[in-house]
Amino acid sequence: EDILKGKMELPEELKKLESTSSTANNEQEDIEKTRKSLPIYPHRERLMKMIADNQVLVIVGETGSGKTTQLTQYLYEDGYTKNNLKIACTQPRRVAAMSVAARVAQEMGVTLGDKVGYSIRFEDCTSPQTIIKYMTDGMMLREFLGEPDLSSYSVIIVDEAHERSLHTDILFGLVKDIAIARPDVKLLISSATIQAEKFSEYFDGAPIINIPGRRYPVDILYTKAPEADYLEASVITVLQVHFTQPQGDILVFLTGQEEIETACDMLRDRVKGFGQKAKELIVTPIYATLPTEMQAEIFKKTPPGARKVVLATNIAETSLTIDGIVYVIDCGFVKQNSYNPRSGMESLLVTPISRASADQRAGRAGRVSPGKCFRLYTSWSYKNELLSAPVPEIQRVNLGNVVLQLKTLGINDLIHFDFMDPPPVETLIAALEQLYALGALNDGGDLTVMGRKMAAFPLDPQMSKMLIASEGYGCSEEVASLCAMLNVNGSVFHRPKERAVHADNARKNFFRPGGDHLMLLAVYKECEENGFDKSWCMQSYVQVKSMKRARDVRNQLIKLMENEGVELKTNNDPALIRKAITAGYFFHAASLQKSGNYRTFHKPQTVYVHPSSSTYQTQARWVIYHELVFTNKEFMRQIIEIEPAWLIDIAPHLYRNTDIEKLTHKMPKNKGRATMA
Ligand code: ADP
Ligand code: MG
Repeated sequence: EDILKGKMELPEELKKLESTSSTANNEQEDIEKTRKSLPIYPHRERLMKMIADNQVLVIVGETGSGKTTQLTQYLYEDGYTKNNLKIACTQPRRVAAMSVAARVAQEMGVTLGDKVGYSIRFEDCTSPQTIIKYMTDGMMLREFLGEPDLSSYSVIIVDEAHERSLHTDILFGLVKDIAIARPDVKLLISSATIQAEKFSEYFDGAPIINIPGRRYPVDILYTKAPEADYLEASVITVLQVHFTQPQGDILVFLTGQEEIETACDMLRDRVKGFGQKAKELIVTPIYATLPTEMQAEIFKKTPPGARKVVLATNIAETSLTIDGIVYVIDCGFVKQNSYNPRSGMESLLVTPISRASADQRAGRAGRVSPGKCFRLYTSWSYKNELLSAPVPEIQRVNLGNVVLQLKTLGINDLIHFDFMDPPPVETLIAALEQLYALGALNDGGDLTVMGRKMAAFPLDPQMSKMLIASEGYGCSEEVASLCAMLNVNGSVFHRPKERAVHADNARKNFFRPGGDHLMLLAVYKECEENGFDKSWCMQSYVQVKSMKRARDVRNQLIKLMENEGVELKTNNDPALIRKAITAGYFFHAASLQKSGNYRTFHKPQTVYVHPSSSTYQTQARWVIYHELVFTNKEFMRQIIEIEPAWLIDIAPHLYRNTDIEKLTHKMPKNKGRATMA
């Protein structure tokens, strides 16, 4: 059975794991026992005393020690929610907010959404009774818009502080002010064992409490040579562990949904090949857009004799703890945002992780027993190539949204905002420029009426502008549907590998002259006409889940539009819809080149039509794209054809007739690649 590459050196066998399965029948009793077994439990009294004695406290503890699930309950038990005051706990990831809220509701024996709830973008699972509220850090920022002093909260827990997500970094600055304005509020900064000193310093020397975790030794194994294909290498390593190593579940870190699904298929296929000889291998994925009911799978106890392998994005690095993991396989990469203010290009790139991340990942193997971590990179690379800590998100993303929100909160001097690590000045300036061009700020840099309206929508500034402007074009109903479709994570189309040709043909039925946005709209309309019917979706190779989510998002947007006085008007004229898109996305205009490729107008660079686009063969002279994604090239995704005259009309401050004429491709239409059609 030589399935093994033999690159990995495996030290001697591990001791048999003690069975951790419980005999208690009563679920609540079981839960009590589990709660008391968490590393944070013995520190409960000391912790609560420190919270009582200090307004701001930095809480540091090993991942899985119980910070996220227990802190809120301890505070509740100690009366911090009397008079209906709320406890907020922020999470950088939406899946973590949902999953942890569900767990806490279960531990407290209450219905999720009642006493314990969560709030993530486009999904509010709370009620007036909610006193423990988990939410994404982005939603917490929005709380400030409605309640600048957060007076309905008694405690604010900024959790996963070490992740240094953009919104968490902004929250630091805002809650620091709240603490001064409201001596009665408690502020808890909770973090894995990284950077604690830095948090304490930032919060004027706030005390640090350490929750020592249980941590067993983890053997670290490296590959001897760099892996050419980490996906294949990780699959092989899983099988290697499954067939040669003692009991214990496996956690594999990969970079994204597609990779994870591919690896899941590969594993299921290959294990099948071993037939009866193989022990059962339960393969479960976890990533941000995985449907909720499937997320629960990763927490299910592995039946005796079987082994579970969880394939995860770095969501499992610190935000979610899966019990029973003994083996970790780390591909060494993460998908990360990067933004170049000079080109205006935002992309999601597969990037090497930092040493701090690598250590966190390895640590996941040592929670229940001694473990092993297989790093699919060399020890030389670990020592010499990886950064010591990840770059905070605020230094590598577009800040348009955040700047608009801060302006709405009356924070005008952004250069002097109390950033823990300041963003590049160029990025701030690019954001201000864009907001000015969109009409959200005036000459003096102050928020306009338009800007205030834009900030009311949980959308990025360009999309907010498109939605608000669509009223003037008489097609706000249609554009609301479009916004909803563009906000559905992942693809709305279903493309099973074995039926790829059928799926592609079904998709072509939705193609509309003018481009991808009109195609998305056509999908939404037809699906709506068919009552979001499952069998219609199946026949059309459309994901019913995504469509229902689009409907929910749309309903929320409609409510917000009513609040903001944006009138609902319907008009199916594709030209009007495309003009409304132009009104928000005029920064994203590109013109056709002789080469058949495109060149962006603002901050010029060559870009390409994504092969999945309905406009792939149309060679429109001017287009607007929704986003640029970089894979092997800069691809435009979601493209519509426009008339250049619209640009001059809509954004005369950016586009002049002479420039447009110079750039407009003279080749008659329907030459070149179009002949292939
Ligand atoms: P920390 O925040 O310190 O990393 P957590 O409070 O997230 O720790 O985790 C404490 C324990 O709760 C872990 O053993 C974890 O497995 C368990 N847990 C968390 N969420 C769930 C869930 N949705 N289902 C089952 N167990 C969970
Ligand atoms: Mg946590």
